[in-house]
Amino acid sequence: MRYVYGFEEEAPGGRELLGGKGVGLAEMTALDLPVPAGFTITTDACRAYTAAGRQVPDGLDEEVDEHIVALEERAGKQFGDPHDPLLVSVRSGAAISMPGMMDTILNLGLGDVAVAGLAESTGNPRFAYDSYRRLLQMYGEVVEGIDGHHFENALAELKRERGVTQDLDLDADDLRELIATFEQIFAQDAGAPFPQDAREQLRRAYRAVFDSWDTPRAQVYRRTYEIPDDLGTACNVVQMVFGNRGERSATGVCFTRDPSTGEARLYGEFLVNAQGEDVVAGIRTPEPIERMRDVLPDAYDELVTTLERLEEHYRDLQDIEFTVEEGTLYLLQTRTGKRTARASLRAAVDMVDEELITREEAVARIDPAQLDQLLHPMIDPDATVVVAAEGLNASPGAASGAIVLDADTAEERGRAGDDVILVRWETTPDDIHGVIHAKGILTAHGGMTSHAAVVARGMGKPCVAGCDTLHIDATAGVIRLGEQELSEGDVITIDGGTGRVIIGSVPLVAPSIDENFRTVLGWADGMRRLGVRANADTPEDAAKAREFGAEGIGLCRTEHMFMAPGRLPVVQRMILADAEPERRAALDDLLPMQQADFEGIFEAMRGLPVIIRLLDPPLHEFLPSLEEATSDAMRTRIRQLHEANPMLGSRGCRLGLQFPEIYEMQVRAIVRAARAVADRTGEPPLVEIMHPLVGFREELRRLRELTEAVAQEEPSVAYLCGTMIELPRACIRADEIAEVADFCSFGTNDLTQTALGFSRDDAEGKFLTHYLEDGVLDANPFETIDQDGVGDLMRIAVERARGTKPEIKLGICGEHGGEPRSVAFCHELGLDYVSCSPYRVPVARLAAAQVALAEAGVVAVAIGG
Ligand code: ADP
Ligand code: MG
Ligand code: MG
Repeated sequence: MRYVYGFEEEAPGGRELLGGKGVGLAEMTALDLPVPAGFTITTDACRAYTAAGRQVPDGLDEEVDEHIVALEERAGKQFGDPHDPLLVSVRSGAAISMPGMMDTILNLGLGDVAVAGLAESTGNPRFAYDSYRRLLQMYGEVVEGIDGHHFENALAELKRERGVTQDLDLDADDLRELIATFEQIFAQDAGAPFPQDAREQLRRAYRAVFDSWDTPRAQVYRRTYEIPDDLGTACNVVQMVFGNRGERSATGVCFTRDPSTGEARLYGEFLVNAQGEDVVAGIRTPEPIERMRDVLPDAYDELVTTLERLEEHYRDLQDIEFTVEEGTLYLLQTRTGKRTARASLRAAVDMVDEELITREEAVARIDPAQLDQLLHPMIDPDATVVVAAEGLNASPGAASGAIVLDADTAEERGRAGDDVILVRWETTPDDIHGVIHAKGILTAHGGMTSHAAVVARGMGKPCVAGCDTLHIDATAGVIRLGEQELSEGDVITIDGGTGRVIIGSVPLVAPSIDENFRTVLGWADGMRRLGVRANADTPEDAAKAREFGAEGIGLCRTEHMFMAPGRLPVVQRMILADAEPERRAALDDLLPMQQADFEGIFEAMRGLPVIIRLLDPPLHEFLPSLEEATSDAMRTRIRQLHEANPMLGSRGCRLGLQFPEIYEMQVRAIVRAARAVADRTGEPPLVEIMHPLVGFREELRRLRELTEAVAQEEPSVAYLCGTMIELPRACIRADEIAEVADFCSFGTNDLTQTALGFSRDDAEGKFLTHYLEDGVLDANPFETIDQDGVGDLMRIAVERARGTKPEIKLGICGEHGGEPRSVAFCHELGLDYVSCSPYRVPVARLAAAQVALAEAGVVAVAIGG
């Protein structure tokens, strides 16, 4: 097996074999760009080394020697030469970049004799000694694991003695003295003096690079970013070029476009007379790249043309490292530049205009998860924040406001125009008015499906839920966040996208749906097959959904309407009723309210289909807790309704069958609303009535009968009648259920709970977190569909339902409907549409286009990557 390839040689593999840095150097060499000569030791070598228990594979040292000889010939210098030595850098580089995890050594090949030779042959002793002290430190840290502070302290000490502040103020003699100190530190900490032999330095250096792959910090990093452990790292050996040779030398980093706005202009920094990491290390303040035009004009011009060529070649924004040695430019690295979502969109649209890429490539290139950033206010990424506590990231976006501990005050202060954060142990339907008037919600208790989380997501409001270290003393008006005590009125900031809670206010940046955003999503719409609808319960949400490009409503929940203030007492009267007549009287009062709700939604969604789901939650959710009950009748009813496991109890269509008058009222309200809107606008709404939690054909057959009977009593409107598919039995029996359904919508949250036997609230933050940390599961099945299990049930359901009724409409309305990998899966299943919260609609539109492009083989897309 061959382990080493020169940059100019053809290698039998790309990034996986050579690492990102290695392929970049080889490609730039092939493009005839100014890259120093060098070679790459492959990831195969690293894997072989690791597998053999840190044994260098046979033949590797010899291959490296041969390549060094070739390098010597090209450079006209000898490695280890005492007069004018060839120097190299040794740089790790894995297939996937792991910033800061692995290391680089510069100026390798120097020793006590060679440094004097270099000083003489270059006539620049300061440069020679500066290079050597850097080698001693980097080699000491990387190969011997010496604490870098020992070197840094010695340098600081010397500067203090000399009364100077800058490294550059130290002259050659000072640096010689520093080297003596560094050598002492080295010998003491490593237990042996710095090896003077260049080849020995090199051999030990690349072993250390391989070892760095398996350090605990690298392992932790890989786990966090889901990078496989068996990739291994490559190691690049590159002839040194020197940015520290004086005023006509420099080193810098540069993006081909502005990575925060996407604007087409060079964006970068450089430092004259400096080496390698000085630019990013913050030792000196670097200068903006434009200044290079004045100080090193020729090298600057060449940099500009080189970057143009690189963009043309890679057809994407590049991030490069360069060095100028005595006026000559060298490139040391190129990679695809990381950028903000805003910059991604702008650069993609500009590149299409420049005819650099196609529209398909532009669409394929935007990370759907990153789009989410743009749809909610977020904490200014440049701000430094101190996190006081962390909870679940229950609803994205960030908000700052004064702490308020009860809903009434939240409403009062919110109405008065104050920004408030409602802080509760947990929220209940009674708090809804406070939630509406707060900027964000923070709870100590409850999971991703807790009341606060669901309501906040529906409203597009930030929420951090289940914050364990939050303690509330409402009577004293104080809370504790970890160690900190705060009072009502103190300002906090919550970041619902990450779960962070921060004391004080933090600069936020507003969501921005700009022209580029619209343009790219417009292109995406023309490329996707999957429809995209939204889950929306109110006319406001429906309007928002439309604005974000939803093609209909896939789920309108009616329970939130029941919880609205003013309604709850009527709903409670209905629930407390002892007999049917009383219940009907309460329902008669609710009917016009529901009808008005539906009219609002139908009007907002004119011309687009709306699925309304009949009442789903168990009735006790509309009653207060036993302690808060206000009458004996209420207490009795609460006891009667108590269930050991409400998630599997009297809810969904079971309610509709047990108390038909509830569903009758809802159907009547829907039909009347549809008629009224049709009369008013001349355009009949596209109504779809959905029954929840069906497991048996007979359940849906009866409910369909009920639906039709009520509809017949009312002025005629067209509607569809369908069901949720959210129980394993419904998936298996989808063929029978399809006989009585016009459409089916997968409720993947309940389907995941019932298929896996996980209750979401009990899983997240508890055993599921443990499973994910321990690697029992790779992903949270409530975030991305468990394709092997739940997904297979869905596949069965699709096949069986279509077997009975090929034209049946199939969709998904769980939160998974807005998650890119799940969207791709739904496309593959052949569903007709996905439905998700309004704020995720753009994400779903993009993800649906990307999977269609990938399927058609137009462009390669890495969804969720
Ligand atoms: P990282 O992955 O941390 O960026 P690199 O291997 O790219 O590490 O190198 C660290 C710094 O040293 C970079 O600024 C790089 O440009 C510079 N560098 C690496 N090799 C050489 C070389 N042969 N000549 C000059 N500078 C180099
Ligand atoms: Mg580094
Ligand atoms: Mg680098």
